[in-house]
Amino acid sequence: MEKKNIDWANLGFAYTKTDYRYVSNFKDGKWDEGGLITDDTVTISECAGVLQYAQTVFEGLKAYTTEDGKIVTFRPDLNGERLENSAKRLEMPVFPKDRFVEAVLETVKANSAYVPPYGSGATLYVRPYMFGSNAVIGVKPADEYQFRVFTTPVGPYFKGGVKPITIRVTDFDRAAPHGTGHIKAGLNYAMSLHAIVDAHNQGYDENMYLDAKTRTKVEETGGANFLFVTKDGKVVTPKSDSILPSITRRSLIYVAKEYLGLEAEEREVYLDELKDMAECGLCGTAAVISPVGKIVDHGKEICLPSGMEEMGPITKKLYDTLTGIQMGRIEAPKGWIYEIG
Ligand SMILES: *Cc1c(COP(=O)(O)O)cnc(C)c1O
Repeated sequence: MEKKNIDWANLGFAYTKTDYRYVSNFKDGKWDEGGLITDDTVTISECAGVLQYAQTVFEGLKAYTTEDGKIVTFRPDLNGERLENSAKRLEMPVFPKDRFVEAVLETVKANSAYVPPYGSGATLYVRPYMFGSNAVIGVKPADEYQFRVFTTPVGPYFKGGVKPITIRVTDFDRAAPHGTGHIKAGLNYAMSLHAIVDAHNQGYDENMYLDAKTRTKVEETGGANFLFVTKDGKVVTPKSDSILPSITRRSLIYVAKEYLGLEAEEREVYLDELKDMAECGLCGTAAVISPVGKIVDHGKEICLPSGMEEMGPITKKLYDTLTGIQMGRIEAPKGWIYEIG
């Protein structure tokens, strides 16, 4: 398919309308057949459950053009599984993960003219989501829902090279114990907006949230999990019931162990251990790993030995290996790559 005339390398992370989106509606206790449409607008009741009580969950993944010219997505089955869990927690009907994967592949295929070419650094971002669509005024779950998948081409995350970021330990909390921190829900983002705007106003790139109960343990940022490398070369990621289980982070742990022969573990990470870490990064679909150079805890600076100029050496190896797998330069573990037929 002929590609659209887009300046791929200069795209930002912004919404660009593409030609097709997938829609399925839930009514009378079941999902309809679903299918692709061209209308990019949504018409719902002014009293829809999503508008009144924020009953909505979402996912995010990417489609890539590999070195040999195939269009692929990375582990969409895990996004489908996670959306199932998110929906259950908000009393929404489950959109089955097999149908989820089909819907993602179908939407990407229909928009293949928007999948950036190999080597451009750009990707096609895929946003599946669902929301309560019928009128709800008394507080209860909606009866009707819409599941939708749209795509948008996005530019290279690191334009002009990777730059380590500076983050602050924030006094705001992101998630309560036994709350909704572990699901991918818009509500977790709405309440993080004030904290991120405040961080930016104070000159920081991101917030490091601590566990709300003891405020001694590292949780995550507003939209990415942490990954640390200890001074003896071990990869460590924080374990908590109130962080979102990042697919990137879980994949990096596997890569660390199985591809790089490193020790890797998921465990509680205390704030006062950070001064002993050699490297730190944020992991998520958008950037894969975004290196952290400095963490500021109420005026006290923790400078990672990897510095403010480049990724730490182990972070870099992890990044190169996982992006190599995604772009088809390195053989992937079985089941990680879904080709668009
Ligand atoms: C989506 C998300 C992540 C990253 O997850 P990936 O599956 O790696 O993209 C991390 N934290 C939060 C809060 C998220 O919403």
